[in-house]
Amino acid sequence: MTQIKDISRERSAELYAKAKTYFPGGVNSPVRAFKSVYGTPLFIKKGDGSHIWDADDNEFIDFCCSWGPLILGHNHSKVKEKVIEVMQNGMSFGAPTALENELAELILNNNKFIEKLRFVSSGTEAVMSAIRLARGYTKRDKILKFEGCYHGHSDSLLVKAGSGLVTFGETSSAGVPKSFADETIVIALNDPEALQKAFADFKDQIAAVIIEPVPANNGLLLQTKEYLQLLRDTCTQNGTLLIFDEVISGFRIGFEGAAGYYDIQPDIITYGKIIGGGLPVGCYGASAEIMSHISPDGGVYQAGTLSGNPVAMAAGIAQLSELLQPGFYEELKNKIEVFVKDIQQYADERGYKFKIFSIGSIFWFAFTGQESISRADEIDPASMENFKILHRELLNRGIYMGPSGYEVGFISSAHTKADLEKAKSAIFEGLDLVFSK
Ligand SMILES: *Cc1c(COP(=O)(O)O)cnc(C)c1O
Repeated sequence: MTQIKDISRERSAELYAKAKTYFPGGVNSPVRAFKSVYGTPLFIKKGDGSHIWDADDNEFIDFCCSWGPLILGHNHSKVKEKVIEVMQNGMSFGAPTALENELAELILNNNKFIEKLRFVSSGTEAVMSAIRLARGYTKRDKILKFEGCYHGHSDSLLVKAGSGLVTFGETSSAGVPKSFADETIVIALNDPEALQKAFADFKDQIAAVIIEPVPANNGLLLQTKEYLQLLRDTCTQNGTLLIFDEVISGFRIGFEGAAGYYDIQPDIITYGKIIGGGLPVGCYGASAEIMSHISPDGGVYQAGTLSGNPVAMAAGIAQLSELLQPGFYEELKNKIEVFVKDIQQYADERGYKFKIFSIGSIFWFAFTGQESISRADEIDPASMENFKILHRELLNRGIYMGPSGYEVGFISSAHTKADLEKAKSAIFEGLDLVFSK
């Protein structure tokens, strides 16, 4: 297998050079800078269905899907039409609109895990607010999170584990006060002993345990139902709230997300990404009793100038309505099962040290011999070199993946069987190249 010619990135390179004079690193979100893969970032000018086009007119089948929100693919006609319809009447009022009720009804009537919710404008904001709610509700300060779970970029959550079984957080970013990080306890995923020790060490101090029930921001670190249930039980026994951060898994692995998939009732759930149909929307929800602590009913303050923005609500309404069509998730799942199975089989037959892990329409390429990976420290950083090669080969063959081996891929309902066949061939060739060295 030989390497093929690199795609042209002339126009993207020009735009990137300009962008570097305007934005730190030339981007408005760091991963977009292609720091861990080859070449300059591609500037995208158009998306339609499962395909995107860059500034040099290269065409790709897109498996990034804007990092998850676009479960119907790009430029879905129903979403676009609804957004345009609502926009005819203005963009924002800072006053309630019926559209907020409509999106809330779609969610609450089809989700048995929350009774009330509040719309915000991003996943970060949803999680930040959920943490404040948990602290206000329990009158405790500490939160417990897991190494390898990403919850947006708010101060208390940009904290990773140091060494040792239970460590006080060490910040992952400059600018986070040590005193904030000290309120965040970090333990490894899937480690019942560390959990027990944290609750013993910080008895009656932990306001909330927050987890991505489907950890998908640092590889795909699938947890067992037993472990998630252990979190539920431990929180209940200790008067601690359990927060499921479902910004990725919500509406993705089923309309009720991971709570529904594992049938575990968390105390607070956060959503983002899919909920806004590609526009900036996040939300957090809980029982009516817990939500009564939010301002103006309760003492936990949280607000937003553009919260519940009508145009964003419109996109969410149109997208979630499609997800509620009978058979939507089954169809998606069936398509992906074949894709994943064929890729794994190809790698296994050739003895490649490679696994494709997946759940619902999320998948992750892991260059590992392990049958499963459930903790961040089980990922070999050196294996990312393989992803880097694969990423370049896939781009050259018209397949766009997020530019980091720690990121997962997403499949939308717009991906056709033909798209997946084409992607499979490209992945096979890419793997052959990776393992020919
Ligand atoms: C993307 C993500 C966030 C942050 O959402 P933004 O909209 O990027 O602020 C938080 N938690 C999880 C699990 C996410 O995947």
